[in-house]
Formats: sequence, C-alpha cells, structure tokens
Amino acid sequence: MVVLKFGGSSVGTPERVSDVCSIILDAQKKYSKVAVVVSAFSGITDQLLQTALCASEGQEKYREYVQSIAERHEAALKILIAKPLQKEMQTVLAQQLDELRNVANGIFLIREATPRTLDFIASFGERLSALLVAGALRSKGAKAEFCDARQLVVTNDTFMSARPDFLTTNANIKKFFSKTTALQVITGFIGSTPQGHTTTLGRGGSDYTGAIFGAALKAKEIQIWTDVNGVMTADPRKVPHAQTLDHLSYEEA
Ligand code: ASP
Ligand code: MG
Repeated sequence: MVVLKFGGSSVGTPERVSDVCSIILDAQKKYSKVAVVVSAFSGITDQLLQTALCASEGQEKYREYVQSIAERHEAALKILIAKPLQKEMQTVLAQQLDELRNVANGIFLIREATPRTLDFIASFGERLSALLVAGALRSKGAKAEFCDARQLVVTNDTFMSARPDFLTTNANIKKFFSKTTALQVITGFIGSTPQGHTTTLGRGGSDYTGAIFGAALKAKEIQIWTDVNGVMTADPRKVPHAQTLDHLSYEEA
C-alpha cells in the first residue's frame, strides 16, 4: 500500500487535477495498492471560514462568497468529468452546495459561528475536492470512490484541532479497506466525534490524514505531493534562487 497525498495547490485548478489524476494512475500501475488523500482546492478553506465569519456578523456579503465557491467547483466539474458522468455528478454536487448554502444561511440567521460550526463549514472544502477528484478519476476509467474520512477518523471534540482516537480509527480504517478494492479518494483534514459531529485536525491537517491512513494500513510509503520538489532552503516565491536540499536530518527539519 502506498498513500498519495495532494495539497490544495496541487488541486488548485482543473488542469492541476488532471495532472494529479495522471500521477495517481501511474502509481496504480507501479504499486499493488494505492490510496489517495486530498486537500480542499487552494484557498477554499479560507473562503469557507470567511463565509462563516461574515454570516455570523450579519454581513450579506457571505452570499457572494458561497456563490464563488459554488461556481469554482461547478466549473471544475464541467472540465474534469466526462459527459456520461456529468448529470449524476452535477446532482451530487448540487446537493452538497445546497447543504453549504443552508449552513451559511443558518449562521447568518443566528449570528453565531462556534468552533463546531466552523469545522462543519470547513469540511465542505475537502468533501467537494475529494468528490471531484474521484469523479475525474472515474472519467479516466479508474474504479475510484469518494471516501468521507468522517466515517473512519474518530476524534475527540476539540473542534478546530481535534485529536484522533487511534484505537477506533485504526480499526475502522483496516476494516473498511479490507472490504474494498476500489481506489479510495479520501478527504484530508476532517474527522468526526463518536457522536457524529464533524471535526477538523487543524489547518494544514491533510498531511496528518495521510499519515493516519498510512500508519493504519501499514503503508510502505506516504507520498506528500506538493508544488515544490522536496524541502527548499527558502520559500521560492520570496527567494528566487532558493534550492532543494539534498539531505535533511531530523534535527534540522
Ligand atoms: N484544507 C485545509 C487547510 O487549508 C487542510 C489542508 O490543506 O491540509 O488548512
Ligand atoms: Mg498543506
């Protein structure tokens, strides 16, 4: 088993998602079993949290945020999903977006966004991206499935930085994977409490999701795919001559 994790910038545009699909399909030829973890499309988590904030302050602007989130995913669907699959996927996406609108309207009406609500609204980012990446892979002929990590990753109720209950989570993941042969496209970042409330593992938590699944499945490798090769001497957006480090000790890291 090899776990491939793709961050927000790797799935930031439909073109990048297409590249990601090629990487996944290649990996499937190379390794006996592959599982995929994805982040929300770049910027979406921030926009979802911004939506909640605006709505909780009674600012009507929140509707525009929701609309732009909706349009970005609808546009991606049209490009990534093959014609025969489009109708079915559009229905599922529309249901998700309706749910998102309802949550945002609810926050607006009660003028309150608790950490629990923020986690719930943030969860849409990964749910939408995993749905579309799974659909894009199916469009390319793969037997791929959307996997909602909330069904498997059980956490405590420290909303916004929840910690997994590994005993239950590992057992859930092992059991689930022993029964499926389909390629799972797993939502990073999210989990749920034993009561079924949605939680998140903290910002940037999709890498952690990759590690949780990799460890539970005793994966040979967890590959964290990102937009630069390896660890660099500096942020290449700020330092143009930044270089990739050949070696990095644990202490240096
Ligand atoms: N989408 C989440 C975030 O922006 C998790 C992640 O990208 O790893 O923090
Ligand atoms: Mg990240």
